[in-house]
Amino acid sequence: MAKSLFIQVVIDEARCQVGQPCTECVKLCPVNIFVAQGNGIRIMSEAEDECTLCDLCLEACPAEAITIRKLYKEGH
Ligand code: SF4
Ligand code: SF4
Repeated sequence: MAKSLFIQVVIDEARCQVGQPCTECVKLCPVNIFVAQGNGIRIMSEAEDECTLCDLCLEACPAEAITIRKLYKEGH
């Protein structure tokens, strides 16, 4: 499976559970990085680099369970 090079999207599963029932990130992400699976959320790792850094998921998550990590250095 492809591994992201530029952006890593991480869900703290324990925090996500606190926020349940919820599928806000699944509904909002414009590039479908989140997929509901069982009682939790799965990250589509091959889609992580498509993240537009729109922050919609971060703003909507009721449990502050999502972290977006930039794997590249900003600037030069
Ligand atoms: S910041 Fe935007 S594009 Fe990136 S994972 Fe969140 S909702 Fe999706
Ligand atoms: S928005 Fe947050 S609490 Fe809701 S499903 Fe996504 S990670 Fe879990």
